Amino acid sequence: MEQMQVDKRAEESVVAGHLWIFSNQVRFRPAGLADGEVVEVTGDKGRSLGTGYYNAKSLIAIRLLSRSKVAVDERFFADRIGQALQLRGRPAEGSFRVVNSESDFLPGLVIDKYEDQIAVQLLTAGMERQKEPIVAAVKKRFSPRAVVLRNDSPGRKEEGLPLYIETADGNVDRSAVVKMGPLRFLVDVLSGHKTGFYFDQAENRPLMREFSPGKNVLDLFCYTGGFGVHALYYGARAVTFVDASAEALDLCRENVRLNGLAGGVFVKADAFDFLKEGREEHEVIVLDPPSFIKSKKKLREGEKGYIDLHKKALRRLSSEGVLFTFSCSYHMRQSRFRDLVRLAAYGRADLYLIRELMQAPDHPVLLTVPETDYLKGLIVRARKRRRIVPPPCPRDKAAM
Ligand code: SAH
Repeated sequence: MEQMQVDKRAEESVVAGHLWIFSNQVRFRPAGLADGEVVEVTGDKGRSLGTGYYNAKSLIAIRLLSRSKVAVDERFFADRIGQALQLRGRPAEGSFRVVNSESDFLPGLVIDKYEDQIAVQLLTAGMERQKEPIVAAVKKRFSPRAVVLRNDSPGRKEEGLPLYIETADGNVDRSAVVKMGPLRFLVDVLSGHKTGFYFDQAENRPLMREFSPGKNVLDLFCYTGGFGVHALYYGARAVTFVDASAEALDLCRENVRLNGLAGGVFVKADAFDFLKEGREEHEVIVLDPPSFIKSKKKLREGEKGYIDLHKKALRRLSSEGVLFTFSCSYHMRQSRFRDLVRLAAYGRADLYLIRELMQAPDHPVLLTVPETDYLKGLIVRARKRRRIVPPPCPRDKAAM
């Protein structure tokens, strides 16, 4: 194993618990290293900091896999999967995220289990190089019906990797049915978003139970209907599902049927246009958009997007209505998110914060890697004011 030396700042950061070393923190790198190659990382004075993998194409030059010098092979991945299961404290049966990248000391690797099928994402050159031992470890641990490589994540381009979807083992059943508490959801493991389903919202969706009985609910950015199907199950009078993707809406319709429910209206539309053009009011609105802020540079632009979305949504929320709102952008911090929602309501409504939400525990937050803490949500009740047109907000500009 070749050695790479990093500077003092990188060493401090690794000792503090982060797993990334940036390209400008590399002091010495041997010639001829391949992208993704496993290296031993040494600190300022030459002491070993552990094992990682290198990529010249990425700003994150090294991602750490271990705090000691270890062989990265099938046994390594089998042990890590075992640790991940232990951390989650749940039996290996059912459907959940088994491995969540940095959260599980496996940067660049995601493993999702859909009953007897496993979807794997190799997000970095380092993990791409470990494809075989990873698939072997997964097969041994779960004896799945199929292992699918969902290597179509756009982020792979920045790592210099091609995008592809491949069945690594077995026969894929494209319509996996996963059980989520009392409900069932169809998941297209070959072409659904990401690996097919958003497990990170698994504990937030059942909260619809408290708020939806008898209500007219709007599930915006519904994807396959995670929130709205829960709302119908818990007694919503009507649910309007809105998404820009026709495929997502098809699955959504099937998910309503699969659970023996009725009362869904399905609309293929841009969520912003839908809010702007309609007049109907809803008593509960769920806003679960994709990440608007992919990088720190896009923060301001993204914040404007969130304010705009919330302004439009508040217009369609009835007074005393409840908003479930989420941001899955790491760069949007929780307190800022609260601020933006408050700003969007300026002059229009008084907002009562009922709950703050986060990602499900199968996406563990490793506190020393703040990037693992990305999903945040608020449940707020809006008491609307009578005046329809508010004066310009003096702080709108200052806050932006
Ligand atoms: N709430 C869902 C997950 C939402 S993922 C669940 O519980 O599973 C975000 C969704 O937003 C995707 O389905 C995507 O197709 C949709 N989307 C992205 N941009 C959109 C837009 N401008 N208008 C409507 N839907 C959009």
